[in-house]
Amino acid sequence: MTKTENLKKLIRDIPDFPKKGIIFKDITPILKDKVAFKEAVDLLFERYKDKNIDFIISIEARGFILGSALAYKLGCGMIPVRKKGKLPYKTRSVTYDLEYGTDTLEMHEDAVSKGDRVLILDDLLATGGTAKAVCDLVKDSGVVIVEIAFMIELEFLKGRAKLKNHPIFTLLTL
Ligand code: AMP
Repeated sequence: MTKTENLKKLIRDIPDFPKKGIIFKDITPILKDKVAFKEAVDLLFERYKDKNIDFIISIEARGFILGSALAYKLGCGMIPVRKKGKLPYKTRSVTYDLEYGTDTLEMHEDAVSKGDRVLILDDLLATGGTAKAVCDLVKDSGVVIVEIAFMIELEFLKGRAKLKNHPIFTLLTL
């Protein structure tokens, strides 16, 4: 079995969570498995180790888990993007549409600077709205988005279409 097949096998489907009609992809069995978790981080490390990444921008909350482990291994910094009202210092924010209503993401206003080479990282690409919002959050700051990476891509939702101006990498596709 390949490493990614092994990871796929560990993803647990939770029907109707957090609401009816959604099949939630639970990655906690991967995190719990010392071999699988290491493999997931190592696969990302192999891809980015020579890319001169200054910062991983990771997205609340599961993105933080992967983002922190990968940043430690790459020897780069980690910048958290959080839901509205969670970050303590001055922030820049972006509001984006959800299926019903809107959501707001924030980043500290001094988190990134012109020329920084960043990797945007989250656990899962669904419709792409969240990752697109993070791109919008940094778009006037002059950073270089080296890539947008996800552990899981739900291909049928076509999230890539929303992110077509940037290179995208996903460890596994469901
Ligand atoms: P989207 O903005 O639609 O691409 O959704 C991506 C964000 O929502 C990520 O932060 C995911 O963690 C979360 N998410 C969306 N759909 C799922 C799902 N089916 N299972 C687990 N997480 C999901």
